[in-house]
Amino acid sequence: MQPVIRHNLQVPEGRLSLRNKILTLLVIAGTFIGFGFPLPRLLAYSVIREAIRTAAVLETWNWPQVVGEHFIVRYSPAAGEEEMARMVLENAEEIYEPVVKAYGYKSGKKILVVVYPTREALGRTFGWDADESAMGVYWGGVIRVLSPEQWIADQDKNQIKSVFAESGPMAHEFTHLVVDYRTRGNYTRWLTEGIAQYKEWEVTGFQFDEPGANLDQPLYPLDQMDEEFDNLPNQALAYRQSLLAINYLVEKYGENKINVLMDELGKGLTMDQAFTKVFGVNIITFEQQWQQWITANWQMPKKSEWAISKQPV
Ligand SMILES: [Zn+2]
Repeated sequence: MQPVIRHNLQVPEGRLSLRNKILTLLVIAGTFIGFGFPLPRLLAYSVIREAIRTAAVLETWNWPQVVGEHFIVRYSPAAGEEEMARMVLENAEEIYEPVVKAYGYKSGKKILVVVYPTREALGRTFGWDADESAMGVYWGGVIRVLSPEQWIADQDKNQIKSVFAESGPMAHEFTHLVVDYRTRGNYTRWLTEGIAQYKEWEVTGFQFDEPGANLDQPLYPLDQMDEEFDNLPNQALAYRQSLLAINYLVEKYGENKINVLMDELGKGLTMDQAFTKVFGVNIITFEQQWQQWITANWQMPKKSEWAISKQPV
């Protein structure tokens, strides 16, 4: 069996920035144009996200589907895909509770998950090149995943199921969704990537584990992560730093403060304002303390499964 590698997840997520930029423009347009009166920015974001979600629901209205308590999984009618869709649904329902318990999410609507039978089909949805490979994507209130059979090189269905549960993207993508709703779209990429990786690690034990994420090299400044996350040449390092930012905040202040932070962002505070209010330090002081913490701790992991190593693995 080939090793499961999820680094390709980073590229498509990066490409999403274009769509996020379009969404941002729509939100700005909605704020100023609206229906003749200005809408608050965050409300406009929520309205447009709902429009995008509804469009995805309509686009896939005639796809076959399997329905669970919290998710609807739609899939292609290609042979074998129903079994894959059931596997995705089962895993989605399993990871739902631990993520919601930590970060809260309430909706009367079931969450749409679309399973694509090939990389090309998933890529076409976002206008990506055919050779790009994503396992999972969250955007606009909808989770889209590649059929597990496409990236798990195993014929045995039970084996595929177990690999999908251990390394699949559901916990990560669903956490992105929860962050998006809870903050009403007011977050930076590193924040959502940090929270998504942190919760995924806790729920499934999975971590990106790439030599490029080695911390024995200069780290990216936070303002660079804020402004050009998707264009940073060492994506593995950017993701690792994002995870460590959340890990640091949880260790120092407790996980519930992440909820408080998201709530303050959901009220429209800037990251700097929210950090100052919730943690008592502005974002610059946070960055200094967090990077000192990395320097002091990265060789002495507190958790046995902590995968930081000087040696590439
Ligand atoms: Zn992500």
